[in-house]
Amino acid sequence: MTQIEKVKKGIISEEIKQVALAEDVEIVALCKLVAESKVVIPYNSKRKKKIKNLCGIGKNLRTKVNANIGTSSDCIRINNEIKKIEIATRYGADAIMDLSTGGDLDEIRKRIIDNCTLPLGTVPIYQAMVEEFKESGDVQNLDIKRILKVIRKQADDGVDFMTIHAGVTKETIRSLEIQKRILDVVSRGGAFLLSWIRYHQKENPFYQDFDEILDIAEEYDITLSLGDGLRPGCLYDATDQAQIKELIVLGELAQRALERNISVMIEGPGHMPMNQIKANVILEKELCREVPFYCLGPLVTDIAPGYDHITAAIGGAIAASSGADFLCYVTPSEHLSIPDIEDVKEGVIALKIAAHAADISKNIGKALDKDIAMSKARKELNWETQINLAIDPQKARKYRDKLSVKDEKTCSMCGEFCAINMVKESVKVR
Ligand code: SF4
Repeated sequence: MTQIEKVKKGIISEEIKQVALAEDVEIVALCKLVAESKVVIPYNSKRKKKIKNLCGIGKNLRTKVNANIGTSSDCIRINNEIKKIEIATRYGADAIMDLSTGGDLDEIRKRIIDNCTLPLGTVPIYQAMVEEFKESGDVQNLDIKRILKVIRKQADDGVDFMTIHAGVTKETIRSLEIQKRILDVVSRGGAFLLSWIRYHQKENPFYQDFDEILDIAEEYDITLSLGDGLRPGCLYDATDQAQIKELIVLGELAQRALERNISVMIEGPGHMPMNQIKANVILEKELCREVPFYCLGPLVTDIAPGYDHITAAIGGAIAASSGADFLCYVTPSEHLSIPDIEDVKEGVIALKIAAHAADISKNIGKALDKDIAMSKARKELNWETQINLAIDPQKARKYRDKLSVKDEKTCSMCGEFCAINMVKESVKVR
């Protein structure tokens, strides 16, 4: 039975109880949101190794952050990927996605599952492409049989949510051709499916055989994350016909998943000017029955390679404050190289800040409590408490200790003219 079926039958699962407790929300209210798939709890029902930190994603819940890890053909260092999981988890990621394309993908995934205490997502088209290429030497030979085999294999291993690129269709590609983008298609899965459809002159197998994908999702209670293979890869391409047409297709597919009681999310852009983000969130919610919106950023400018964790955090904060539910992190190495461990840390922290800022603006739970505690510690010039409350205590301490100060109470910014201290002293004099 899927999570949606359970709540519809009045069964309150352990997962529901855990998420309600973690989010401090009423169980009854949470069940209603899960029944409508306005909240999803990615959790493979046949997972052998249980998840320590379950996470609910969606309406009225804290905005969640995903960290992508994984090997590439140029960098196959599984121990490094495991370290990235540790760092991402330590700095507050809520989910991990394994995007590996290099090495023994089955072995790598098993190692990742063994070392991951968070919900795990994958993009099955990657493994299907890699396997096809290894076996026949031509990715164009890929067919639905291999795709379904990979999806089932990953489900069997315990993957909790999967990106399914079913929205790149003959029709959405036609819109892309009319529109004339600068960057065409930047999603790996989207680009492959576009070339496959053109080569075979056939419909996208993920779209054509979506019911068979639903069969597996239902069996394992996998949350489907409907991927935006035509997401804009630069500001100029944002909110064009192809992107919106794909969103409409994803909305139809989400409806079909919901009719089978399968949890579903919609993936979103990409690169986008700040003034278009809110409209995109509203469109997703309207066209896709308010299922959770999972955004990659969006990145709000194209000119900041090396700092794209910041461009994504700006876009992510606007998206989440407008109603997006799940932010995929972007690291400083975006567009340049595979992220290293430090990049993973920077990416998670940047998007956690975005998510937290959005939650304060939406008045989610007790989001403001920590900020109030920090403000009080600042007023008291209590440096230990400030450091402990910081999102990155190590960095806060490093800065605090950078220069010695004459008066330990203050910091080297204003020294003896510390405004907080002066006000304190003036109160004593009165
Ligand atoms: S010295 Fe200046 S920056 Fe530092 S705590 Fe006092 S007011 Fe704030």
